[in-house]
Amino acid sequence: MILVSSCLIGMSCRYDGSDNKDDKVLNYLEGKDWMPICPEQMGGLKTPRNPAEITKDKVASNSGEDVTAEFIRGADEVVRLARMVGATQAILKSRSPSCGSGQIYDGTFSKVLVQGDGLTARALKKMGVCVISEEDL
Ligand code: SF4
Repeated sequence: MILVSSCLIGMSCRYDGSDNKDDKVLNYLEGKDWMPICPEQMGGLKTPRNPAEITKDKVASNSGEDVTAEFIRGADEVVRLARMVGATQAILKSRSPSCGSGQIYDGTFSKVLVQGDGLTARALKKMGVCVISEEDL
């Protein structure tokens, strides 16, 4: 089973209410078993919402609101689902503070990238799921 960031398949779950539909991802998924996930919505955040970035172990929105608890809840829910469905792979949106793998924004909301994973990507890797981004396909 492959978990996929919902925004990549065209669901309007991005912070600004839009999506990141990616035809390469949709083509890759054809004929495979997959399931969409949006950790930020699963953690209780509404859509649209303010964009958030990670600084050290905290996640904050651009208005200064601490949304760490919601991001952790979302990651926990995805891990629970991953166990239930026996997920072995995840294709997650690059650079997101939840879904990003390898690179994320640095927490200053100035488009500066640093090495690191979003909270959900981190949690899935920890349980042995192979996490890639749409850019790796
Ligand atoms: Fe897409 Fe992940 Fe952000 Fe949800 S949390 S909008 S799935 S990048």
